Amino acid sequence: MSGGVIIGIESTAHTLSIGSVNSSGEPSSSHSSFFRPESGGIHPREAADHHAENAGRLVKEFLQSGIDSNSIEAIAFSQGPGLGPCLRVGASVARALGTKWDVPIVGVNHCVAHIEIGRQQCQMDDPVLLYVSGGNTQVITRMSGRYRVLGETLDIGIGNMLDKFARQQDLPFPGGPKIEMLAKDWLMQNPDADLDDYQLPYAVQGMDLAFSGLFTAACRLVDRGADLGAVCWSLQEHSFAASIEVAERAMAHTGKDELLLGGGVACNQRLRDMSSIMCDEREGSLGVPAREFCVDNGSMIATLGQLQLQNTGPTKIQLSGINQSLRTDETNITWE
Ligand code: AMP
Ligand code: MG
Repeated sequence: MSGGVIIGIESTAHTLSIGSVNSSGEPSSSHSSFFRPESGGIHPREAADHHAENAGRLVKEFLQSGIDSNSIEAIAFSQGPGLGPCLRVGASVARALGTKWDVPIVGVNHCVAHIEIGRQQCQMDDPVLLYVSGGNTQVITRMSGRYRVLGETLDIGIGNMLDKFARQQDLPFPGGPKIEMLAKDWLMQNPDADLDDYQLPYAVQGMDLAFSGLFTAACRLVDRGADLGAVCWSLQEHSFAASIEVAERAMAHTGKDELLLGGGVACNQRLRDMSSIMCDEREGSLGVPAREFCVDNGSMIATLGQLQLQNTGPTKIQLSGINQSLRTDETNITWE
């Protein structure tokens, strides 16, 4: 059968998610289950156990949401990058469903999936992507048939940095939304705040970024008695400004005038507002997908799976092994 539904399975880190795309390329809402560590960061084995325990239920729920299993054309899954044990669960579910329904599987690059769902949702042709998630922070654009990484974090991802800072302050995981709220509330009460009073290191190094120094300095500010809300505000201002500066330089170097946001941190309204100001100043345009398509989701995996299936075909079972360090620029982009 051709022109059916493609199912997408996402399992790179804390999120197990199942979504789909129909024959016209429209993504569905995804059904997701989030691993939340009781304390500390994400332990890959524990997250993988969560995925394995919830996969059967999620697949059942997803099919009950109105998917006819006879209309399924292929199963796409995140092949990398991500946490090995988590990726293995997603790949195993994909192989099992492919065998059960006798349909091909398609292994896809998680980072490229963020770009393609964003391009599709925001109807952008050739954007620079600012990809800000838990584990990844990259500025990416298409050049000579690949998505090239023009700049990236040299240490931890911006989301991990926010989560780590939150954990240090006894705020629940994920820390990003909580930090956003504290920063916003504090600024409302202190509208004349001056960033000079809460200075942190600036995270830009050429076209790259680094966030661990920022994390340490922010913890130190709190230890010295600064208001937590003020430090949350300063942390956002510094880390977002640095990320947007690199994205702006990428736009200037490549002559591209579209900026697309992706990844969980792109849910942040302050990041969206700062990106919008930069794009306005350059007379460029900003694409911000709905929050359900910024965070990790199964439908983005299905969207890229459909493009790959149409252009390069399915993934042979013997080539369907996961690759936890798969790079954004390792995937050939054969579609426009
Ligand atoms: P992802 O890895 O793309 O699924 O995104 C997860 C990351 O996004 C986590 O590090 C969250 O803390 C972060 N995140 C989610 N919502 C927000 C927000 N409103 N502001 C900042 N970070 C956020
Ligand atoms: Mg992601």
